[in-house]
Amino acid sequence: MMKLHLEGKTALITGGSKGIGLASAKLLAQEGCDIVLVARDPNALSDAVAEIQTETGKTAQTMTCDVANQETPEKLVEQFPDIDILVNNAGAIPGGSLDQVAADAWRQSWDLKVFGIIEMTRHFYASMATRRSGVIINVIGWAGLRVDANYLAGSMGNASLVAMTRALGSTSPADGVRVVGINPGPVDTDRLEFLQRKKAEVLLGDANKWRELVAKLPFGRAAQKVEIASAVAFLASEVSGYTSGSVLEIDGGLSWKI
Ligand code: NDP
Repeated sequence: MMKLHLEGKTALITGGSKGIGLASAKLLAQEGCDIVLVARDPNALSDAVAEIQTETGKTAQTMTCDVANQETPEKLVEQFPDIDILVNNAGAIPGGSLDQVAADAWRQSWDLKVFGIIEMTRHFYASMATRRSGVIINVIGWAGLRVDANYLAGSMGNASLVAMTRALGSTSPADGVRVVGINPGPVDTDRLEFLQRKKAEVLLGDANKWRELVAKLPFGRAAQKVEIASAVAFLASEVSGYTSGSVLEIDGGLSWKI
């Protein structure tokens, strides 16, 4: 428990049923937040609520919806107009080079991670600015800084989200709102094996050798979910009340490694 004094705040977390999103929801709940989880699979959402209840004693509201759907952000802001903390976390951009990522897969993944975040931010920012209070946290990814031709769609999408976070966060304090981002390196979630397999195929010629790549990461491992979630909770709180336009790398130094 960090004593971040988030009691009375409400946080909406997209992709909150699994991985980094669920870990963030648990920590925010522990710190006193009321929680709204957004994802597509209702069963995974129910399991997540049960986990949050067991581990924190708090319950959580859920919304079963697809953040890539253009109508979702408006529906969510209508249903939850008083959200204090928006965690834009849902996203999955396929790995591959320019000739490997099919046009429709590229567009679908950007509909979620790029346009989803733009539209969620557009809607919730307006409501926060009216109340002159709120925090938007974008979970982006280290390829936005350390661009990778073999993760081209992700590098480009993440770079645009870093730019959005920095630009919007530079003017949002005038509206009483903070906009911040986190750039995780590889994190130990369900996606880790999928992403590392693709990389191992390209770099080592054998997808089954993906664990060798993980062993070569800083500290000999991927980040734990809680190591990202802790930063989400810190950035959500007034302890970081002077932080806006910042994008925090949590990647064991990968972004700057020569
Ligand atoms: P997970 O795959 O573990 O979880 C993804 C979550 O997003 C699930 O709750 C999933 O639920 C939800 N989701 C997926 N698609 C949609 C959709 N269209 N609408 C609503 N919810 C959706 O992801 P991670 O925790 O690994 O990743 C979270 C974020 O962190 C992502 O944006 C990812 O790009 C980023 N990231 C992850 C890294 C990693 O190594 N894991 C590294 C760098 C960045 P459901 O399928 O039921 O909708």
